[in-house]
Amino acid sequence: MDNYAYQPDDNGKPFAITRYPSVSRQNNDYLVEVNSRSKFFKTTKFYKRLTAILTILVLLLLIIVIVLAVLYCTKFRKNGLCTSEECLRSAANLRLSMDFSVDPCDDFYQYTCGRWSKEHPNHGWFPSFSAFSTIMEEVLIATEDFLNSENDDDNNEPFSVKQARNFYKSCMDTESVDNLGLSVVYKYLKEVDLPTVPSLFTKTDQELEDFQFDWLKSEATIKKTFAMDVLIGFFVQPNMYNRSENVMYIGVPVTPCPLPSPFKTDKRKKNEVDYAELRKTVNTNIIKFVLTTFFKNVTSKEPKEEVLEQATEVLINMTLHMDELINNYTDIYETVHFENIKEHQNKISEILNDNTKKTYPQIWEKYITYLFEGVNVTIDFDKDLLYLAEMDEDYLPKVISYIMTTSDVYVELYMWWVTVFAMILNTSSDIAEYILKQTAPFYVGSNVLRSRSLDCCILVNTFMGMAVSYGLADKTFSNKTKPKVEEMLSNIKDSFVAHVNTLTWMDRDTKQATLEKSKEMISFIGYPEWLFDKGALDIYYQGIVIYNDTYLENMMSFVKIFVPSKLEELRKINERNWSTDPTDVNAYNSFPDNSINVPMAILSFPAYNLGLEVLNYGAIGSILGHELTHGFDNTGRKYDKFGNYKKWWTNSTIETFEEKTKCFIKQYDNYTFAGISNHVQGEKTLGENLADNGGVNHAYRAYHRYLKIHGSEPKLPGFQNFTNDQLFFVAFGSIWCQTITLDEIEKDIETDVHSPQKIRVIGTLQNSREFAKAFRCPAGSKMNPGGTKCKVW
Ligand SMILES: [Zn+2]
Repeated sequence: MDNYAYQPDDNGKPFAITRYPSVSRQNNDYLVEVNSRSKFFKTTKFYKRLTAILTILVLLLLIIVIVLAVLYCTKFRKNGLCTSEECLRSAANLRLSMDFSVDPCDDFYQYTCGRWSKEHPNHGWFPSFSAFSTIMEEVLIATEDFLNSENDDDNNEPFSVKQARNFYKSCMDTESVDNLGLSVVYKYLKEVDLPTVPSLFTKTDQELEDFQFDWLKSEATIKKTFAMDVLIGFFVQPNMYNRSENVMYIGVPVTPCPLPSPFKTDKRKKNEVDYAELRKTVNTNIIKFVLTTFFKNVTSKEPKEEVLEQATEVLINMTLHMDELINNYTDIYETVHFENIKEHQNKISEILNDNTKKTYPQIWEKYITYLFEGVNVTIDFDKDLLYLAEMDEDYLPKVISYIMTTSDVYVELYMWWVTVFAMILNTSSDIAEYILKQTAPFYVGSNVLRSRSLDCCILVNTFMGMAVSYGLADKTFSNKTKPKVEEMLSNIKDSFVAHVNTLTWMDRDTKQATLEKSKEMISFIGYPEWLFDKGALDIYYQGIVIYNDTYLENMMSFVKIFVPSKLEELRKINERNWSTDPTDVNAYNSFPDNSINVPMAILSFPAYNLGLEVLNYGAIGSILGHELTHGFDNTGRKYDKFGNYKKWWTNSTIETFEEKTKCFIKQYDNYTFAGISNHVQGEKTLGENLADNGGVNHAYRAYHRYLKIHGSEPKLPGFQNFTNDQLFFVAFGSIWCQTITLDEIEKDIETDVHSPQKIRVIGTLQNSREFAKAFRCPAGSKMNPGGTKCKVW
């Protein structure tokens, strides 16, 4: 008998080989385990048979147990329903919002969102109302609760949180606002060297003849005090070609005052026949009202009618002229170059001399000196550079010529007006009411139903978003939600990488650089890590002074430190950082930071916390994918992995990319709405459409990655007949459900870089083969049209 190995048993299965054959034969004193088995098999024939039978039985039993276990598990999973609160909420929300009478292959937006508006009535806080508005409402209500709550002195709450509550109180305290009246405005006019009433109203003819006004000084002080551009645009920002350093940009005015002011949310269509006429009438009324009010308040007399008429006419004409000058430009970034300060001011002076026979030899030296007064930065006029685009080169001599050929008293009047207009809505209620009534026709889909308390919440959130976030943030977020979102983002990135590797339209070098950029893309999720560090929030709001009865001054406390602190950054290294507040219901890709920002507010139902990952990937996943794709859209592709504006793609790849994007431009150009003459603007919305399309594709593949790692998920109640893929697309469609008027769609088509929400669903899914497959949409159906499907990412 072979003692080295036992034969396979009758089932053909090899048993353990005895390692000590000789020992086993010679004595019984060997290792128990090996021995017991050896013994068992090495006895008589009877025992051998018995052994075989028992082995078979044991094996059979094992197999039965395994089969039953597998069957049980499969059966359980098949019928397993997710009955968590999150799942039930998602299920009910989707079920009641969807219109099952519509064929998903015919109009998927209608299918997903057909009954949404009925289920989610607009409370009137926002002109249009979407799934995201429902989150905004929740954020506002939570903000209101938080700001209305008492200061928690026992709990070591940061001082800035108390300041936020006081800020809110000051906004609600209309009595104090009324009592202060125009006195606060006078105070700030004085700070920027402007009179309480324009000189045109107070000087004699003789005085006016000799009147001189240093407009450049006012321009600089207004910029520093009100953080706004009047005639000249100026800002310190990361160098677009080397983002770690900050540089000075100069040119077309782009920054409005951060204070709430009229016309900021002008929703009226500018191409309307009566727009210009209506605007002129409203402006005339407001100008006359404000000038009269100020004059009476200061002098207790009525202004002279002819001076009032003259001032109004001057202001209307100057405003129109400035609007025309500024709105003339569309090119923003394509042609930015730099010149040192002296070089550029010489150039300006020469053009001025040609145009007006006047010169302003040291214009930038003067302006920049005024600006940096009191700021701890020394400027070298021979070495420091000014960054300008072609449009800025064109604009600056034009505006300076215009101002230098306009009477000084008119220029003073104009700068007085712009400054007062920035503050006027935040003074006494009779003035604010008059102006709001006048400007009402410019707010389509009026939001008059919104209470002052909500407006104050929005305001405090705008100025003190981090302090509000401190109150609203769930402290378990960092450990609970953030890792899950990070895993999702990582799956989405992996899908993107895998996709890039398969691309045939990209050459090897560009592919490599693209992969590197996606690797370098960092993410800011939820809220900054430092938010709950002791003392950190108070450092963030250092220098801010807030009282509970000084509304306008509270806001000015923020506004006044904004520009000086930006100017200080000129010599500082630029860190990649959060570019938004955690309470913002949105997500961003910051090109210069090569970062994705996903604030905590958007990580809420119905964009997140949906119970099943298939829903989360379809909803927030497609948003994360959207932001990732932005880094490689028609603009994002021009910023390299460090966030520098640079050509880092090869010419041939750029050519192919541009050729491929034409498909999207053509596709989106074809979308129209009955009753609106303009079609969707394919060219203008290209970047967003690329991001939408890429976003869904990457999220879809990322979900399949998730399934491979974590296994399948239970079913959603009421959707047992839906496949995973179907649910994914329903979740994607559902986040774009919206109630909106035709007027607003028309306005959005004119001004928004995003396609209308309905088109974001339809346009994206018409390009998705996975969608067509999931819903078995026949080729040629509306949601699976014939011809090429556009695809880049
Ligand atoms: Zn976007």
